[in-house]
Amino acid sequence: MKNITMLIDGQLVVATATFPVINPATGEAFAQAAAGNAAHVDAAVDAAKRAFSGWSKTPDAERQRLLHALGAALEAHMPELMELVTLETGKPLAGLNGVGAGMEVGGSIAWTHVTADLTLPVEVLQDNAEARVEIHRKPLGVVGSITPWNWPLMIAIWHVIPALRAGNTVVIKPSELSPVATARFVELANAILPPGVLNLVTGAAGSDVGPAMASHPGIAKIVFTGSTATGRKIMAAGAGNLKRLTLELGGNDAGIVLPDVDVKAVAPKLFGVTFHNNGQTCACLKRLYVHASIYEEMCAELARIAASTVVGDGLLPETQLGPIQNAMQLAKVEELAADARASGGRFLCGGKRRAGPGYFYEPTIVADLSDGSRLVDEEPFGPLLPVIKYSDVDEVIARANRSLNGLGGSIWSTDLVRAAELAQRLECGTAWVNEHGAVQPDAPFGGVKQSGIGVEFGSHGLAEYTSIQTLKIMKS
Ligand code: NAD
Repeated sequence: MKNITMLIDGQLVVATATFPVINPATGEAFAQAAAGNAAHVDAAVDAAKRAFSGWSKTPDAERQRLLHALGAALEAHMPELMELVTLETGKPLAGLNGVGAGMEVGGSIAWTHVTADLTLPVEVLQDNAEARVEIHRKPLGVVGSITPWNWPLMIAIWHVIPALRAGNTVVIKPSELSPVATARFVELANAILPPGVLNLVTGAAGSDVGPAMASHPGIAKIVFTGSTATGRKIMAAGAGNLKRLTLELGGNDAGIVLPDVDVKAVAPKLFGVTFHNNGQTCACLKRLYVHASIYEEMCAELARIAASTVVGDGLLPETQLGPIQNAMQLAKVEELAADARASGGRFLCGGKRRAGPGYFYEPTIVADLSDGSRLVDEEPFGPLLPVIKYSDVDEVIARANRSLNGLGGSIWSTDLVRAAELAQRLECGTAWVNEHGAVQPDAPFGGVKQSGIGVEFGSHGLAEYTSIQTLKIMKS
């Protein structure tokens, strides 16, 4: 059994109580993590505040050097980190279309190096005989990072590296369902960074750690990835000191397939972008609208691929889809499937949990549902896809936009010009053509409407970890 401790001011910190971390492939605990509380948050924020004065003044080149060293340390521990990610999330080491723990750790390394190289140069707005006006970017102070369970290491990296790159110090709280790889990352980072620059506080389900961070007067900004409901609470709790916020929240992304596609060529791509990590990715495709003229052919092709997908323990090399990450999420998937059945959904494959230990559920394609049924209107966050028939393109764009969420969306067609025009009519933070959910470290990513506030990645994302200071120098 692994023991996960907190890390505050460069020191490992144990708590009087612990909580179990479950391997979803077995349903058994494989680690015990320290059950922190609000007092640990206070200690971590104090340490981060003390470290801020040195770290924020550290020259850019030195901060970049240390972050590249951190990227190298992640790479040196890649197999170990991959195993931890698989044990705590269930996602396969390789996974469907290569989307698994290897991609999570590899992506974390890539994001670390690309983000380390980003810069926010001083902008000169005016420089004439009268005055010089410059725009400077300054770090905010202590950043609080709160992460979800689906991509625990990758999302921790997405939060922590730009915050540090910009000169902030950080307190991170991973999900109680998946704190293990994050704890290892923080430990590796603390062998490289000065004490107090990056601190870890873990909390059990329902603990006061997350709320204490969200309301803490010593934290200047919260970067949060998780559900819209929790995002709302964090926003309310942060009002006391007008916290800066980046909120990456839920999505219910629509994909729209135009009648001109080659069904056999497109179906495997659609299946991959929907089902990788069992659909437990914020920007997975979650509602698929297919033109009536190719509807039955597409449904049959998707069902054929689903039925041939290998579901199993993520540690086995042949596994394409692992278990659902936790029992609560499995219960939600079962509830949505029951509702889809009751509202006339035609199950083309799957539709049930696998017997035996672990939280396994068969990849499931449901035809004949429409807007208004729960599986279409709610984010399933599981291996369940509703395939919905449409005949009019203007009408289907309106249906896609009817959601309160607006994370991503996609158009699938051989006519790239028309598809790009339609994609821009989707109300979402990222619109893809013949792709869905693909993110990259230099392109901003974020949600509109109730999918979030702000963006991550690239210089746009980095700027969110700074405040602007305008400097005006009168010359006469
Ligand atoms: P969640 O909101 O239940 O939990 C996320 C984190 O918030 C956990 O660390 C949890 O302990 C913490 N938390 C819970 N209550 C809190 C409170 N009152 N104050 C402060 N912190 C609190 O989300 P989840 O179930 O872990 O993740 C799934 C959700 O995350 C899905 O909706 C998914 O779409 C979303 N998500 C979004 C993105 C994105 O980039 N937009 C990425 C991944 C996941």
